Amino acid sequence: MAIEIPGDLLPADGRFGCGPSKVRPAQLEALLSSGSSILGTSHRQAPVKNLVGSVREQLAALFRIPEGYEILLGNGGSTAFWDAAAFGLIERRAQNLVFGEFGGKFAAAAGAPWLEAPDVRKAEPGSRTAAEVVEGIDVYAWPHNETSTGVAAPISRVAAEGALTVIDATSAAGGIEFDVAQADVYYFAPQKNLGSDGGLWFAAVSPAAVERIERIAASGRYIPEFLSLKHAVDNSRLNQTLNTPALTTLHLLDSQLRWILDNGGLGWAASRTAESSSVLYDWAEASSVATPFVSDPSHRSPVVATIDFDESIDAAAIAKTLRANGIVDTEPYRKLGRNQLRVATFVSIDPDDVRQLTRSIDYVLENLGG
Ligand SMILES: *Cc1c(COP(=O)(O)O)cnc(C)c1O
Repeated sequence: MAIEIPGDLLPADGRFGCGPSKVRPAQLEALLSSGSSILGTSHRQAPVKNLVGSVREQLAALFRIPEGYEILLGNGGSTAFWDAAAFGLIERRAQNLVFGEFGGKFAAAAGAPWLEAPDVRKAEPGSRTAAEVVEGIDVYAWPHNETSTGVAAPISRVAAEGALTVIDATSAAGGIEFDVAQADVYYFAPQKNLGSDGGLWFAAVSPAAVERIERIAASGRYIPEFLSLKHAVDNSRLNQTLNTPALTTLHLLDSQLRWILDNGGLGWAASRTAESSSVLYDWAEASSVATPFVSDPSHRSPVVATIDFDESIDAAAIAKTLRANGIVDTEPYRKLGRNQLRVATFVSIDPDDVRQLTRSIDYVLENLGG
């Protein structure tokens, strides 16, 4: 190994990836101690259905959902949700705010041939755009946190009669404060801030969203079974999924939700991610070779920090050296193509480990090429 970072500078846990992300050891212990009553058992029987019920109740508590809102789930992660939305949530035309890869992927799904071409509002990576009311738009969509760039956006309902506000919260859910009543659909997969594993999507939905789902399902539009949101509504209410869900994902999510709620809920989680991300942004602001990629501080994500490096420094070499020392997944989003480190500051990550990470990076900077 070229550079060996001294042990007293290393974080206790070296997982800083944006997804799949750090799963806390206590979640794995809980899986070992109580997983045998779940794993390898039928998802149509009480133990698994009660687990799904517990996850739904805890998500409802975490988001403080108002009367009439409900928690849905289905298989396939957020990517499957995009196609499900194209089939069963967008009536005619969506407006998609795109300021990175993930917003762009939903815009592509919203370009399905039975819909009108989406109204795509693009911003340069590292900045963001806002929704604008346009005649004929029935879904306004944007990411709460654009994981590819580290830009967060506020959640406020678009004041357009009959239209739905649909938020991709895959990396934000459970790590950023917001008012769920400002969204009709707040959907996510649990392998990011919620520190579980992949394969499922969840959504907090308003009565207006359920009404839309039921109306489109009854309209005669062709909808594949697997992507039917109507099936998701019906099955979720029974604490089920259409087909077999990933039981480990549910178990890890359940214990993570309990941990967050026991510590004080969303407010606690948001203050922890804010503390961790500030460590990195402050470190970069003070550095002569690093700067936060997102120039407007009010756009900077509290859960995904992107740090650009001066061209005299090879950020890929830093990430590689960190990896060789057990600090993994600090590489930038592959398609962004910047001289950058990207660090998750999700709720599972200890703010002290983020402080240690900056010490480790300082050590690598002092010793790279030196
Ligand atoms: C990771 C991510 C996705 C994709 O999630 P999958 O569960 O892998 O489909 C979508 N949107 C955002 C904002 C993400 O960070």
